[in-house]
Parts: sequence; structure tokens; C-alpha cells
Amino acid sequence: MATKLTDEVKAHLRDVCARIVAPGHGILAADESTGTMGKRFDQIKVENIEENRRSYRQLLMSCDKSMANSIGGVILFHETLYQKDDNGTQLRDLLKEKGIVIGIKVDKGVVKLLGTKDETTTQGLDQLGDRCSQYRKDGCEFAKWRCVLKISDSTPSQLAIMENANVLARYASICQQNDIVPIVEPEILPDGDHTIERCQEVTEKVLAAVYKALNDHNVYLEGTLLKPNMVTGGQSCSTKYTPEQVALATVTALRRTVPSAMPGVTFLSGGQSETDATSNLDAINRIDLLRPWKLSFSYGRALQASVLKAWQGKAENVAHAQKVFLRRAKMNSSACLGKYESAMEAAESGDAHSLFVANHQY
Ligand code: 13P
Repeated sequence: MATKLTDEVKAHLRDVCARIVAPGHGILAADESTGTMGKRFDQIKVENIEENRRSYRQLLMSCDKSMANSIGGVILFHETLYQKDDNGTQLRDLLKEKGIVIGIKVDKGVVKLLGTKDETTTQGLDQLGDRCSQYRKDGCEFAKWRCVLKISDSTPSQLAIMENANVLARYASICQQNDIVPIVEPEILPDGDHTIERCQEVTEKVLAAVYKALNDHNVYLEGTLLKPNMVTGGQSCSTKYTPEQVALATVTALRRTVPSAMPGVTFLSGGQSETDATSNLDAINRIDLLRPWKLSFSYGRALQASVLKAWQGKAENVAHAQKVFLRRAKMNSSACLGKYESAMEAAESGDAHSLFVANHQY
């Protein structure tokens, strides 16, 4: 007998997407793995122990309720989902109280594909159904799975494109069977000196393969979100492109490949500075082209870099760091509506430094 999603599940999945990408809303990606948190903490000389990770995540989750004016969903790492604040309240309940949707990273990182130029697929399908079922009981309504593709003269290979499209589709299918919205993330890394045109060409090939695979796997598109890279020049490309150029290349690539049934695109920041990530998103939402999906953010580095800097691991800095976070979130909320002006930036928030990390792991 065919396995089908019930109307009730479909309605729930659609509703979750609508809550996450409500007008002026996006996602805080706070699902850095323990190793990645270590790299972030190194920069502010904070020891990477569970208590410090808990304190930092508490800082984010315990922001006042204005957080819900710009943040529709937060992606958590497994550890955070089961941590409590200083008063013994589950961190996830701090989000739920504010009406913010709880998400969970479910992939288990990348592994190399034999015979390729260091290309990867993403692992974590084993027992994924059981894990999703438990996460759903524990309050998660959406999930993230990150696949990574690399641009060079000979990559991404057809193998990497097909394998990553298929694993994303398989993951999406398992999430939906457990009443969880899958965020589909095929990240094309910015590493390299390629032009924006090359990035657009690769982005189109990758997204076309992803949507073919989602269709082959009978994934219910109305109950999914897409988390792609913006189309930009490579990190070491000598040409610096304007937000308008990034917007045109990005929206063109999406229009050519992403079905309009899919409700929302939540871009990753991919090493762009905080202000570039905001300016580019704003330009994307101002462009004079038909855009049938919400175009929003799911930023990690571009929402947290100046927050970490403001915090420095010190309790007395928490209130200030929260203000910095709420400002950054508000700037990106304005960008979702195409209403961001750089003059809105306060001095302490909105860092123009690149947040690029070579061969970025999450
Ligand atoms: P960045 O915004 O730092 O690229 O991270 C977003 C993310 O969640 C990558 O999976």
C-alpha cells in the first residue's frame, strides 16, 4: 500500500513553514556542533565546555519577546535541546513561550566520496526516522540537513550533485513522514576564485538536481523550506560584486530551478560579513522580478559574530550581547521586507568583517 501524508500532516507542515517565514521573519541557526562551537569560542578565549555552551545558548534563547518579531525559528544542536537555563527551565521552552518554532540539526556531518577531488556527501540517515519521531515528541517542528558542494574547474562532479540531491530527498521524505518540516540545504561553498557567473551556473545545476530528487521521492514541496547559498563570486575572486549583482544572479538562479509550491528560501550567510549578508538579502527583496517564495535568512555566523564578541564569556556582558543580537535580527527582518538602510546600523552591531572560514564545517 502506498505511504501517503495525511491532510492533517500536510496542513501542519504548511503551517510550520508559514510561521517560520512569516513576513519579516527568518531563522537563527544556532546548531553549531561541539567542535564548531570550539572554534567560535577560541576567538573570544572561552573554554569549550558544556557549561559555557549552555550559558551562551541561554543568552540567545532568553532574549526578550521582541526576538519573535524577527526570528520565526531557531535551529538547535542536540545538546541544546536538552539543556536548561539557570532557573531549571528547558532552553527550548524559552523559545516556545515566545512562539518561536524549534528546529533541530539531524545530519551527522560530511564524509568523503571515493575517487573525487575531496568532494563529500552527508551522513546520518541511519535511525533518522526514530530520531525524528523522538525530536517531534520533544517539541521540534523542523529539521536541518546540510550538504556541501565545492566549485573548482572540475567540481562539483556529477556524482557529488546526484548523491547529495538524493540524500537530501531521502532525509526530507523521512522528516515529513514524522510530521517535521525539512530544511533542504545544498550549500555551495564560497571557497575559490570563481566568478559570480560560475557560481550561478553551478547553483542552477545543483538546485535543478535537488528538485528532481525531491519530486522522485514524492516529497511534499509545500511543507519544505530551501536553505541555499546566495549566488556570489568566490571568496578570492578579484571582482567584488554589488548587492544588486548578487540579487540578480541569485533570484535568476532560483526562478529557473525552484518550484513556486515551495514556500520559503532561507539563505545561509556562508562567511559573508554581517552587513554584507543583510545588504544582499535586502537587494534580493527589492529586485524587480517575480518572486513566488518568501526570501529570508537562516544565518549562523552573520547573526552571531558580533554577539560572541560582545559577550566574551562574561555574565556582566549578557544584557549588552542580547541587545546586539536583537539589533542584528531586526536589521535582517527589515532586509526580508526590502526595507533595510545601512544608516539603520548602530555602531556596536553590524560588523563589516568577512566571516569566511575555508572549507567550512558546521
Ligand atoms: P552560516 O550562516 O554561518 O553560513 O551558517 C548557516 C548554517 O546553518 C549552515 O548550515
